[in-house]
Amino acid sequence: MIMMIMECSLLGKNYQPCSLNIGKEVANKKFHSLNFRATTHLSLEVGFGKQGSLANSASAKLVWPSPNDEIQFWERDFPSWNVTPQVPGNIQNDSDLMHIIHVTPEMAPIAKVGGLGDVVTGLARACLSRGHTVYIMLPFYECIQKQHINDLALLITFNAYHDGNWGQSVYGGAYNELEAYLFFNRASLEWMQVTGTQPDIIHVHEWQTGALPLLYWDMYHNLSLKKPRIVLTIHNMEHYGECRIEQLSKSGVDGSIYATEDKAIDERTIGHNPERLSLLKGGIVYSNAVVTVSPTYLNETLCSGWLSSTLIRNRDKYFGVLNGIDTAMWNPATDAFLPAKFHAQKPEGKSSCKYYVQRGLGLVSTDTLAGPHVSDITDRVPLVVCISRLVAQKGLHLITSAIKHVEELGGQMVVLGKASDGRLEREFEGLANLHNQGPSIRILLMYSEELSHMLYAAADMVLVPSIYEPCGLAQMIGMRYGAVPIVRKTGGLADTVFDMDDQSNHEISNGFVFEGIDEGSLNWALDRAFAYYREKADEWNSIVERVMEIDNSWNNSAGKYIEIYQSVRVRL
Ligand code: ADP
Repeated sequence: MIMMIMECSLLGKNYQPCSLNIGKEVANKKFHSLNFRATTHLSLEVGFGKQGSLANSASAKLVWPSPNDEIQFWERDFPSWNVTPQVPGNIQNDSDLMHIIHVTPEMAPIAKVGGLGDVVTGLARACLSRGHTVYIMLPFYECIQKQHINDLALLITFNAYHDGNWGQSVYGGAYNELEAYLFFNRASLEWMQVTGTQPDIIHVHEWQTGALPLLYWDMYHNLSLKKPRIVLTIHNMEHYGECRIEQLSKSGVDGSIYATEDKAIDERTIGHNPERLSLLKGGIVYSNAVVTVSPTYLNETLCSGWLSSTLIRNRDKYFGVLNGIDTAMWNPATDAFLPAKFHAQKPEGKSSCKYYVQRGLGLVSTDTLAGPHVSDITDRVPLVVCISRLVAQKGLHLITSAIKHVEELGGQMVVLGKASDGRLEREFEGLANLHNQGPSIRILLMYSEELSHMLYAAADMVLVPSIYEPCGLAQMIGMRYGAVPIVRKTGGLADTVFDMDDQSNHEISNGFVFEGIDEGSLNWALDRAFAYYREKADEWNSIVERVMEIDNSWNNSAGKYIEIYQSVRVRL
């Protein structure tokens, strides 16, 4: 897999784990030229430092952490983790191979905010393992840590157009996220043109790349790019890329021709001055196929939201394909961040992971800390985790209610979340101050890939109480790590979690589901999960084993994407 990072990194998404450095100087410096850099293989070293201080699972010499450690347990050095794809023996090459280029704002693990980054990496690798050629084009954000990318090399330097200029100082130092993404769209196509690269499929993602289909059909297709067809995946319809007509014009097309209802106008702004465009809507109209990330979310988006009329008009090219998870990156049997490895046939390591996290977060009382043996609390007290961006969509009032109810039930809960704005951050800081010194709740307001892996491994239950959820990966990752999901019935959560007490679905039941958005509905699900855990230990153990064996890999879903690619590709 070739990864191309375009050096135009004034983009402002808060990628982690690195801090951002966006400002005039950076923008000026970075935009003087456009450099594409490529690796010949995607062989990312995930992890920080050399073979390290975190003991191997097999060894009994685990260094048990404590909250008083100078370096917190998730910040220690980890063994390097080579996630170069291992092609599973049972996956055969497809017979009709294609060249696919993803143009994307995120890619895990180097530029990940949420599920989009995971999806791009997972889908790309699944297609690669079936023999297809896959490139990924990504902006070279300031925060990308070059040292974690093997074989990074400059491939080509070229100019791309923006706002009357080719290349030099395109932004005049002004930082504007929308224009930066417009520029990224145009420059990605420009690269294909100057290098004569004509993939079968250009796969774009979210509003950030919604202008690419317009630029392709109305400009580059009239130049030399004849072969590519465009597939757009919408990971979340909440963000639709509001864009003024003159901003789109800076890409070199006449923005005003898109200001109609059948093209890209945001109809909610009709009659306003100025009227505005939606890059996501334009992307829907101009792509050959549009995919969203679960069948249930597809139905939801056809029924509500202002884009539903556009989606209905384009229904014959609109598909719902459930995301998968990358089972090489998310594998408790090999995960470099885990203090003990485990899998469904050998689950013992899971309780070591739980004890490790409990010790590290101060969730076991000091009198049980005498030895290395898993404490009584580890076996007796259910641990619920919630790993999420802290935004309204994720059901924040339900997360808060869960904290209270888990405590009432005598369980433990860890929330790992990054707030999207200052008000929410302060609200959750208040909760953290209230609870973090106590014996059962920890609220950790940050992004940590390492800690997220450890928490999934430690958890008995993973809570995803979203108000809406296009697909959701946390429940799937949680299951692979033996955490039983408790979810609200919406979007992809409804497609992947089936209630234990629903007799009609008994053979596929794998968690606890509630429908309401009120505290009572959530509590009911938590009560039932706790009752199973405490009163039906054998049944609980068999659910844990069952969820670990569920195949939520990309194997199935990649096949569906490939069918969609094949249905729109042309042979020239
Ligand atoms: P979304 O894409 O809406 O954020 P998903 O459930 O599809 O939701 O994907 C979320 C991904 O981001 C998962 O891999 C989850 O583990 C990860 N994640 C979310 N918040 C954090 C955090 N604070 N620290 C580490 N990983 C996080």
